[in-house]
Amino acid sequence: MTPISPETIDVLWITAGLGCDGDTIAMTAATQPSIEDLVMGALPGIPKVRLHNPCLSYDNGDDFMRHFHRAAAGELDPFLLVIEGSIPDETNKAEGYWAGFGKDATGQPIPTCEWIDRLAPRAWAVVAAGTCATYGGIHAMPGNPTGCMGLADYLGWEWRSKAGIPIVCVPGCPVQPDSFMETLLYLLQQAAGRAPMIPLDEALRPRWLFGQTVHEGCDRGGYYEQGDFAAEYGSRKCIVKLGCWGPVVLCNVPKRGWMNGIGGCPNVGGVCIGCTMPGFPDKFMPFMDEPPGAKMSTSAVLMYGRTVRALRNFTKTSLNREPAWRRPPGGSNG
Ligand code: SF4
Ligand code: SF4
Repeated sequence: MTPISPETIDVLWITAGLGCDGDTIAMTAATQPSIEDLVMGALPGIPKVRLHNPCLSYDNGDDFMRHFHRAAAGELDPFLLVIEGSIPDETNKAEGYWAGFGKDATGQPIPTCEWIDRLAPRAWAVVAAGTCATYGGIHAMPGNPTGCMGLADYLGWEWRSKAGIPIVCVPGCPVQPDSFMETLLYLLQQAAGRAPMIPLDEALRPRWLFGQTVHEGCDRGGYYEQGDFAAEYGSRKCIVKLGCWGPVVLCNVPKRGWMNGIGGCPNVGGVCIGCTMPGFPDKFMPFMDEPPGAKMSTSAVLMYGRTVRALRNFTKTSLNREPAWRRPPGGSNG
């Protein structure tokens, strides 16, 4: 892999998969780095970014589409391609199209799949943003007429960019803003020759962002360990019995929060429904029911957790008092 070290690099961001543009909107909340940091070239040592995203671009209409046509013709190089939304199967019907973006010389819409076919082979790296683009997401549930899928199912899990980089998947519904921007930053560092090949796990997620479970970073972990489970929403206790899948889901949101470190599903009372996982949503349904595996693990935790909690309360009561020798003669503390 040869570094490209350009002064600027174009990021072509297609939101015309099947999705809600939620990942683009989430990105506006990123701070580490922010979109502004990248487009203003505020970070030393990495290329300045020219961002072409339909929701965030200054260009409109043909002016906006021009960058995509130039890239497809090989006149824009290097560029990173970001795909948002799941990829429909355009071969599963006699006529029409499921998703498109811009139009050709005859005025006909250009299907999103065709853009991916044109641009992916020329891209320095390809990034899938959000769970729809990575693994199909909500739209890829059974019965979906579009036959839609994630980018790795569309291009192939072994696919490599012309720089030899696998598809980089940053899942989440929506994607955690700083996790996505940090991934982009890593790729820019790699493009500048300052970082080795991006480390990805078997689901093509950046390892340093998706290497721990929700449970391992959850504010409520102490309650779980003591067998102290919430029976209703609004409680500050562990919400596993209300449907939290955190112990088996890889996601850093409880550690990182959503915006400026604030939030993070179970931290603020929302059960984890596994939105960063390739099995989402089908394998996590019905939502809000106690996960099947949790019944056994929480029963085991209950056996010792309550005893540990009672003993800790005893110790805590003692530690919450000053030592006896500090009390003034005739004092009332203890
Ligand atoms: S709320 Fe979920 S992630 Fe947090 S401690 Fe309980 S089971 Fe684990
Ligand atoms: S904590 Fe669970 S539901 Fe929340 S973003 Fe992470 S994987 Fe999705």
